[in-house]
Amino acid sequence: MDKRGKKVIKETVHGRTEDLLKQARSEFSEHPERSERYLKLLWKLVQKYKVRLTREQKLSFCKRCFILWIPGKTVEVSFDQRNSVLQYRCKECGFSRRLKYK
Ligand SMILES: [Zn+2]
Repeated sequence: MDKRGKKVIKETVHGRTEDLLKQARSEFSEHPERSERYLKLLWKLVQKYKVRLTREQKLSFCKRCFILWIPGKTVEVSFDQRNSVLQYRCKECGFSRRLKYK
């Protein structure tokens, strides 16, 4: 496949990940299991096509248990002032990630 073709695929997949994330958000309160399914699908696309998620997208869900991350509800967010590091800790499975705060 030529470069242009690849670019088109990436753009399509990128749009699809946005949609899946939106769907996951809108289903979460009523049907958390559906939300989880959307997020798993999203993650599969990401791995298959090697698309890059934005920082915001990455922090929208747990990539271990695929729960939608809602600060204060499904994820604890704390800020380590000394190191300027934001810490996200999934309340569901305990997965945590640290991010340099800019
Ligand atoms: Zn989790």
